[in-house]
Amino acid sequence: RLFSPGRFLVLCLLLLGTQQRSGVGQTEYMWFSSSAPIPTYVLGANDQETVSYFPELSGCELAENITYLGRRGLYSGTSGLQIAYLSGTESQDEPAPAYSFSAKDVAELKTSLLSTPNFKGVDILLTSPWPRDVGTFANSAGEIDTKKCGSKLVSDVAASLKPRYHFAALEKAYYERLPYRNHTVLQETPQHVSRFIALADVGNTSKKKYLYAFSIVPMSLMDPAELVKQPQDVTENPYRKSRKEAQKTKAPLCAEEEPACQFFFDLNKHQGKKRPSHEKERGNSQPKQAKKPPQPTGPCWFCLASPEVEKHLVVSIGTHCYLALAKGGLLPDHVLILPIGHYQSVVDLSSEVVEEVTKYKSALKEFFRSKGKRYVLFERNYRSQHLQLQVIPVPLDHCTSEDIKESFIAQAQEQQIELLEIPEHSDITQVAQPGTPYFYVELDTGEKLFHRIRGRFPLHFGREVLASEALLALPQRADWRRCAAERAEEAAQAHAFRRDFQPFDFALRA
Ligand SMILES: [Zn+2]
Repeated sequence: RLFSPGRFLVLCLLLLGTQQRSGVGQTEYMWFSSSAPIPTYVLGANDQETVSYFPELSGCELAENITYLGRRGLYSGTSGLQIAYLSGTESQDEPAPAYSFSAKDVAELKTSLLSTPNFKGVDILLTSPWPRDVGTFANSAGEIDTKKCGSKLVSDVAASLKPRYHFAALEKAYYERLPYRNHTVLQETPQHVSRFIALADVGNTSKKKYLYAFSIVPMSLMDPAELVKQPQDVTENPYRKSRKEAQKTKAPLCAEEEPACQFFFDLNKHQGKKRPSHEKERGNSQPKQAKKPPQPTGPCWFCLASPEVEKHLVVSIGTHCYLALAKGGLLPDHVLILPIGHYQSVVDLSSEVVEEVTKYKSALKEFFRSKGKRYVLFERNYRSQHLQLQVIPVPLDHCTSEDIKESFIAQAQEQQIELLEIPEHSDITQVAQPGTPYFYVELDTGEKLFHRIRGRFPLHFGREVLASEALLALPQRADWRRCAAERAEEAAQAHAFRRDFQPFDFALRA
């Protein structure tokens, strides 16, 4: 009676109580009206009609071997298998009706689990509704539109609890999503993947799959390396996107609350501890106070600590500077040297930052030379708030350094821009006045061309010259706005860059 077909959209896991170490086994599946042959666990009501079948909201035994888990919580099997669950549908009301959960239930469930030491995730998550947006970055969920159906609170729970398996059933459809990551590649240590599986209603006439039998070893018993193995078909996390969007709306506020300095000083502290001898060399009487970089007045895309930074593009982090792939780069290895703190131009940098810029330049020179390329670097200190040194590699056999300089000078002349070669070994700071706009190009040989901007200056000049027929011949990529790539593609390019650059990256050896 209780389990008449289609009546309950619940998922039952077999053998939880009696399982061996290897976990849930495949078992013959049967229904009984008053008892079950094996321990069976169910979620609660999804509508007012069925509330009466669950005498106690917090969980109870419904019949022999049939346990209602309760509104929310964590069930730990004797094997160590951990199953988190949330009963009912999402409700905006507080208190929520008996067949629903609210934001408060979700917050309490998350807090109780996330506060356990070394929390890595749960083995299984059971919810009635699908999580909203679960189909993002994934295979199609058929007729179910995952952007519209499902619960946002369930997405939030799944994102936080990182279940290895998440089951839901309320859409009465079978869907097995490709596994997704719980970490951001290269920026976080690898974690286990999650799998979302939706099952149809029990005994449905269209014979859609409603039972899923599988064997699982509790994560607490697994070898850590085995646990974090990434399958071939793994995708990005479908819930991270919506989190980022949520952050974006808050961004201007956050940016005003001193974003960069915390990160900056933490970094220095760390560095100081690591190199006590270095510290001694510098300050003889009093330890020199780290100079606080200027603060941005609004949101900044390049202050490393700001929420606007696209962290998946970052490929190396030093003490004062970092490297990031250019968004919509001219080439996949078009990279930027950026100060971690908010400096407007090379002229404004303090000596230790300049020192590290120089180190990055020589590391990049070696790196690109090993690939048969030379880099061309340029800076446009004009209508730009945060220093960006654009570094673009050009094949050595493609053109000489004379060719490159000539192209720049010729194309500058066409636009009435006076680009002058400045003597080797002379520094930009000797030619440029602090506070005045300029543009300069530098080759990896140290040769430099300089232009002091007096009126208007074409914003994409450097890139356009490099993209022109005379140099890289990539006119279709001259405009970065037309070179937008998918986030996954950007992340893959950053991954490749970081991997290849590793032997040259002094920041990793520090
Ligand atoms: Zn900045």
